[in-house]
Amino acid sequence: MNRCWTLMDAPSTSDRATAHTGTGSAAARPYRHPEKRLRPDNPSPRKPPWIRVKAPTSKAYAETRRIVREHGLATVCEEAGCPNIGECWAQRHATMMIMGEICTRACAFCNVATGKPGALDPSEPENVGKAVAKLGLAHVVITSVDRDDLEDGGASHFVETVGWIRAYAPATTVELLTPDFLRKPGALEIVLAAKPDVFNHNLETVPGLYGAVRPGARYYHSVRLLERAKELAPGLFTKSGMMVGLGETREEVAQTMDDLRCADVDFLTIGQYLQPTSKHHPVDRFVAPEEFEAYAALARAKGFLLVSASPLTRSSYHADSDFAKLKAARG
Ligand code: SF4
Repeated sequence: MNRCWTLMDAPSTSDRATAHTGTGSAAARPYRHPEKRLRPDNPSPRKPPWIRVKAPTSKAYAETRRIVREHGLATVCEEAGCPNIGECWAQRHATMMIMGEICTRACAFCNVATGKPGALDPSEPENVGKAVAKLGLAHVVITSVDRDDLEDGGASHFVETVGWIRAYAPATTVELLTPDFLRKPGALEIVLAAKPDVFNHNLETVPGLYGAVRPGARYYHSVRLLERAKELAPGLFTKSGMMVGLGETREEVAQTMDDLRCADVDFLTIGQYLQPTSKHHPVDRFVAPEEFEAYAALARAKGFLLVSASPLTRSSYHADSDFAKLKAARG
């Protein structure tokens, strides 16, 4: 029988990530985040009923997991402990996370491990292409850890991955959810040369919280990245996402929407922040479903082609059907 779970009960690490942390027990999870070990605990408030999701038990879920493992791939669905994994993987919608499982940044909201990443796996781009073909995806989202250690921030690896997806699954549309490529001149141009169908980069939060939530990033650099993507490829769909419940105000959310519209971003996603461990940024509050509806209405009024806003909305949630809606909206 299915049971409900919340994010903290979810299998937040893949088998491979479990191996590198040494154990998969909840108590050991902070070791994924050595920089957060000495921080005081931030107990998460009790989750409201609308955050509950079903445990993954379907055959299709198991098959997706098998294909991901067989190709030695990491997914953000597992690494971030996404609550939607049961639903998405039952439809074979896995979001690949390339360039390893270790990130060079240490964002206060993120469950991906922080540290010094290893060398890039040269077989990974082709393995992603094979897995996408086996999963039979109409639309795939490819994301990555931040690789500040690489000269191009990993842009060429994205391009290679797109090339192999097009070789093995030519009908699949590709959405790239990239890091900010801060201090990586030319990286965005490299990525756009691969002609992704959607360019996605998440602002994650409002500018006033960047110091606490995304200390290694710069808000206006991220906005400018999205703006430049549209300038360089005017026909491209651009997309960005943010979390609420981190301590932002409604006015700040509205201002962030305006900044994204100034950057000509087409699609906005807004979801509830969930705290991966007690060492992460505290949940300020759980935003009620009707407040998400109000945010969606506000964003639509500001001119986004498409808005997805709900407690469980994530950047790649329903990305395939949303891509179809995006095309229809532009048409
Ligand atoms: S919402 Fe995105 S990250 Fe979460 S399970 Fe679905 S595809 Fe994966």
